[in-house]
Amino acid sequence: MRAVRFHDRHHIRIDDVPPPGEVAGNQVLVRPFYCGICGTDLHEYLHGPISPTREPHVFTGAKIPQILGHEFSGRVEAVGPDVTNVAVGDRVSIQPQMAPPDEYYGKRGLYQLSPKVGVVGLSWWWGGMADLAIVNEYNAFVVPDSVSDLQAALVEPAAVAVHAVDRAGIRPGWSVLISGFGPIGALCALAARAAGASTIIVAETNQKRLNFATALLPGAVAVNPKQNNLADVVRSVTEEGIGVHAAIECAGVGPALNACTAAVRRQGVVVQVGLQTSPVEINLLEWVFKDIIVRGSICYPSDSWPRVMDLIGSGLFPVEKVVTSVVDLENVMSHGFERLLDPDGGEVKVLLRVSADA
Ligand SMILES: [Zn+2]
Repeated sequence: MRAVRFHDRHHIRIDDVPPPGEVAGNQVLVRPFYCGICGTDLHEYLHGPISPTREPHVFTGAKIPQILGHEFSGRVEAVGPDVTNVAVGDRVSIQPQMAPPDEYYGKRGLYQLSPKVGVVGLSWWWGGMADLAIVNEYNAFVVPDSVSDLQAALVEPAAVAVHAVDRAGIRPGWSVLISGFGPIGALCALAARAAGASTIIVAETNQKRLNFATALLPGAVAVNPKQNNLADVVRSVTEEGIGVHAAIECAGVGPALNACTAAVRRQGVVVQVGLQTSPVEINLLEWVFKDIIVRGSICYPSDSWPRVMDLIGSGLFPVEKVVTSVVDLENVMSHGFERLLDPDGGEVKVLLRVSADA
């Protein structure tokens, strides 16, 4: 079968690999429909291996070459004898994280916090960018009729956004700054709107992405901080010029975090979602005098799927609108990775069409 595999930095290709054999115990065999290319995948391509390991993974035992794809929907093709939550033929969306179920965070379903977390498509034997994938029973969630196969492939990044909005505590009528308008920024903006944010400001330096923000979020204030003073804009659109209630930082660059702490009102909340891969110089005096909360936000609790799918199915969270291209698996590099890595490119979210059924 076809599988997009990470071999090493700058070395990802489609390989012909043996399909999975019998599914045992609590395992589920899935035929992926759509699979997203994530910023994490791009990061692995440029700087990896980070999540995939050369030695067997501490929990799953998987190692390079790693089949990619942790954001996917599909159909159940077979189930192990102990599986009870899904059946052959079910449409499913995959929650890709796993952790030792008998350890502190695993027992609580907080796989994302486990030091031994494994992820389908990053540190597990199988991934969504392949004709078939094996996952654990608890990784597969049945998709309601109100959610399409394409939307179901977006539940994973959408869950990241919903968790960030939870961490920001966004309430009806709030003003919110979204910093960085890649796929996670775009989904955070949609999730903030679904949570009731009435004033949304988007800060993004890529003009194509900023134009996309304007189209995606009618009524939002789009700012290119290279051309306009973000602080002035924030003042001009918030009550008495005091700043936004909350800021969600998705760009992952130091100046963006500082722009967020400057933009929130006193006792405001800043949530850091983007991965700041270098230390950031901050002004703690500002944080203290403004009495603000600055929080990290990583992934999502593993029980997010039904809630996020309900939100999508209700029409309040139109996640499909962040998709800028759907490309065949065969073109994963030329139409996927290469276009997403173009610094002046207009792509935001690229989905791979893996199965002909999709
Ligand atoms: Zn991802």
